Amino acid sequence: MSRIRTPVPPFAAFEPGLSKFEKLATQDPRIRAMVSATVSGRLDEACALLNAMLELSGTSVQVRRVPEGWALTTTDAVESAAECVSSLAHLIATDGWRRIKVCEKPSCTQIFIDRTNGSIRLYCDSHRRSADRQGTLREP
Ligand SMILES: [Zn+2]
Repeated sequence: MSRIRTPVPPFAAFEPGLSKFEKLATQDPRIRAMVSATVSGRLDEACALLNAMLELSGTSVQVRRVPEGWALTTTDAVESAAECVSSLAHLIATDGWRRIKVCEKPSCTQIFIDRTNGSIRLYCDSHRRSADRQGTLREP
């Protein structure tokens, strides 16, 4: 019985990240869940968990399944989740929470940042425009 030889990864090139991963894996439940999925053979689930952690970390790198195995891709999203929450944190530290709003049209759940001088905006972009056309601010 012969073993199939696969190339050995350049482990040194992945340090110190891999060593940190081994330390974190015992503490971080997300990494534990990913490893659990991995060793159970649920690789697409493991990949989804890894990609979620990558997105939260603010990196644009993702892993995806390809016919030859796995490949790195870069997301084309300009703003990562980390950039979004970082910008939000700066806004809150500058002006508090009052500008984070949900459209007041009853059928709408759109979230928006109120950028008006007096923080008086009530509606999302699409419903604010219809309110302007009808000449009323309260009834879009
Ligand atoms: Zn709306």
